[in-house]
Amino acid sequence: MTITNPLLLQNPIEKVDQIAPEHVEPAISQIIKENQAEIELLVKNIDQVNSEQTNISWQSFMLPLEKLEDRLSKAWSPVSHLNSVCNSDELREAYDKGLALLTDYSTQLGQHKGLYKATKALFDAANEPENQQEQNLTATQQHILKDSLLGFKLSGLHLNSEDQKTFSNIQKRLAELSSKYEQNLMDATMAWTKLLSDKKDLSGLPKTELAMLANNAEIRDKKGYLVTLEIPSYLAIMTYADNRELREEVYTAYSTRASDQSEDGAQFDNSEIMAELLKLKQQKAKLLGFKNFAELSLESKMAESPEQVEGFLMDLNKAGKKQAKQEYAALAEFAKATFIKEDQVDDLKAWDISYFSEKLKQQKFQVSQAELRPYFVVDKVMSGLFELTEHHFNVHFEMVENPTVWNSDVRHYLIKRNNELVAEFYLDLYARQHKRGGAWMDNYQSRFKLNAETTLTPIAYLTCNFGSPVNGQPALLTHDEVVTLFHEFGHGIHHMLTKVDELSASGIANVPWDAVELPSQFMENFCYQPEVNEKLSQHFETGESLPQDKLDKLIAAKNFQSAMAMVRQIEFALFDMRIHDNQALSANEIQDVLDKTREEVAVVIPPKSNRFQNGFSHIFAGGYSAGYYSYKWAEVLSADAFSLFEEQGVMNQEAGKNFLNNILEKGGSADPMELFEAFRGRKPKVDALLRHSGIQ
Ligand SMILES: [Zn+2]
Repeated sequence: MTITNPLLLQNPIEKVDQIAPEHVEPAISQIIKENQAEIELLVKNIDQVNSEQTNISWQSFMLPLEKLEDRLSKAWSPVSHLNSVCNSDELREAYDKGLALLTDYSTQLGQHKGLYKATKALFDAANEPENQQEQNLTATQQHILKDSLLGFKLSGLHLNSEDQKTFSNIQKRLAELSSKYEQNLMDATMAWTKLLSDKKDLSGLPKTELAMLANNAEIRDKKGYLVTLEIPSYLAIMTYADNRELREEVYTAYSTRASDQSEDGAQFDNSEIMAELLKLKQQKAKLLGFKNFAELSLESKMAESPEQVEGFLMDLNKAGKKQAKQEYAALAEFAKATFIKEDQVDDLKAWDISYFSEKLKQQKFQVSQAELRPYFVVDKVMSGLFELTEHHFNVHFEMVENPTVWNSDVRHYLIKRNNELVAEFYLDLYARQHKRGGAWMDNYQSRFKLNAETTLTPIAYLTCNFGSPVNGQPALLTHDEVVTLFHEFGHGIHHMLTKVDELSASGIANVPWDAVELPSQFMENFCYQPEVNEKLSQHFETGESLPQDKLDKLIAAKNFQSAMAMVRQIEFALFDMRIHDNQALSANEIQDVLDKTREEVAVVIPPKSNRFQNGFSHIFAGGYSAGYYSYKWAEVLSADAFSLFEEQGVMNQEAGKNFLNNILEKGGSADPMELFEAFRGRKPKVDALLRHSGIQ
C-alpha cells in the first residue's frame, strides 16, 4: 500500500483536509533536498557555459529557480495556515520543525556564491550595451534581479570568510538577544498581579471587564478579582477604574516592566540587552558597508534616508502638535471641571489620560459600536464589498461549492474578468477554538507565468475572527469589524489582481515593508463614505440602511484625540530612528534620546520612572527596527491615494481603473514611489491624512 503525502502533491491545497502533522517534516525536508540538488545542477550548467560566453537567460536560470520556490511555498503555505486556524500541539511541533528547516535553507541560499554569480551575470549582461548577446530582460525582471542582488549583499555574501564568521555570530547573538528581550518582558508581565476581594475597589468597570478579572482569579484558583499586566486587564483598569490610586499602581507596574525601576528588583531588566542589541546592529551594518543600522534598514525600504524619515516625521509633528496640545488642554479642563477635586489634584497624570478620555468621548459622541452592529449583517457587507470591487476594478465574484476545506464555515470564491479566472480565495470569517485571533491575508499561490500557454493564478486566504451567527440570527458586525474586513480585503486584491508574470514580484511579493499597507489602508476609507455605507448596511430587522447622523457621529468619534494619537506615534517612530541612526548607545544614552525626543515632540510627558523602551518589542524583538515610521508613512500614501477619489468622486471608475493599473496590478515589479507617482501624477502629500484625521 502506498501512502501519499498530500504536501508532495502538485497542489496540496486541493487535499487540505487530509494534511496531518506527520506529513510536514518529511515533505518539507524532501522538497528542500530536491531543490538543493536542482540548484546545484542549475548553477553548474551555467558555470560551464559562463567560461565561454554569457548565455544565461531568465528562461534558463530565474524561471527554474522560481518554479522550485513555488513548489516549496505551496507545500509550506497550507501548513503555516492550518497552524494558525486549526492549531494543535502536534501541528505546532511539526510547524516549528518545518520552520527551522526553512530558515536554514534560506540562509544557505542567501550566502550561495554560485547563485549570486549567476544572478549577477544575468543582471550585468542585460546592463552592458556592448554585450553582443541580446538579453531582452523586462523592466520587472531587472527590478527583481536588482533586489535579489541586494538580498545577497544584506546576507553577507560578499564578506571574506573571517568576516562572514563574525557576521553569522552577530546574527545568532541578535536572535538570542531578541528572544531574551521578549522572554523578559513576558516574565515581567506575569510576575505582577493584584488580587482584590471587594467589587467596590473596582467601581467604574463594565460587566465584561469585571467578568474578565473574576475569570483571571478563577483560573488561578483564587477568589475575587485578579488584576494582571496583560493588555485587556491593564486597559480595563486604565480606562474605567474610578479608583485613582489603583490606576497609578497599575500604570507604574506596567510602565516599569523589565527595567531597573520595577518592583521585582530588576530581575527581568532589559536595559543591557537593548544596549547590546544596538551595538551588534551597528557592527553588522558597518560590516556590510553601511554607516549605521538605520541606513542598512532603509536600503530595502521605500524611504531613502534617515534624514528623509526624520524630516517626514518632524513635518507631521509640526502639523499636528498645536491641535494635540489643544486636545490635551480640553481633556485637562474636562477632568478638572467634572471629576478632580481641587484639594486632591493639581493636574492630569499619566494614569488619568485614558480614564478621562473615555468619559469625555462618551459625553461628546453618544454612538457605540454595539449600537451600529444591527446595521451590518455579514452577507450584506460582503455583497456590498464585492459590488464596490466589481464597480472599480472590473471583476466578478462567484462562490463555489468546495467540501475540501478546513472548516465548514469556510467559503471558496472565484474572481473572474470577462469570464476568465483571475484569482481565487478562501474566506474564513468566524472566531472558533484553536484559531489564532486577529485578521490577516496570506497567500497560497502567487500569479506565475510558466510558459506561453500556462499561467498560475493567485490564491489567497482571508481570515477574520468575527462572532459567528447564533440562535438563527445572522452574524452582525461592528463598524470596526467592517473596517478590518476592508483592510484585509485590500491586501487580498493587491495580491490577487496583479498582472505581474514573475513569481518574485507578483502581488505582494517584493513590495517594501513601508509600502505594503497602501492598498489595505486605502480600502478602509470607503467604510466612511455615505455611497458605500448604503451598499453595506441594512438593519437586520427593519431593513433600513445606516442613517446619516449615525455615520457622522461615527466619523467624529473616529477623530477624537487623533492629533494626540498621531504625536505619540511620531514620538515612538523618531525614537526608533534616532537610536539606530547613531553610534552604539548605552542604556542611559538610550534613555537620553527618548527624553530629548519627548521634550521636542510630545504633549504628554510620562513620569521619570517610565521605561517604555524596555517593553518596545516592535523594535527590539520584532522586525520594526529603524522601521516603526512605516505605519505613518504608509498612512500618508493611502490617504493621499484615496484623496484622488474624493476629488474625482468616490464611485468614479476612471479613478478606480487608475488605481488598478498603477498600484494593484503592478505589485512589487517597480519602485513604489514610481508607481505612486504614475497613479497620482505627483509625489505624495500629507494633506489628505491630516484632513481625514480631522487635523487642521
Ligand atoms: Zn495590514
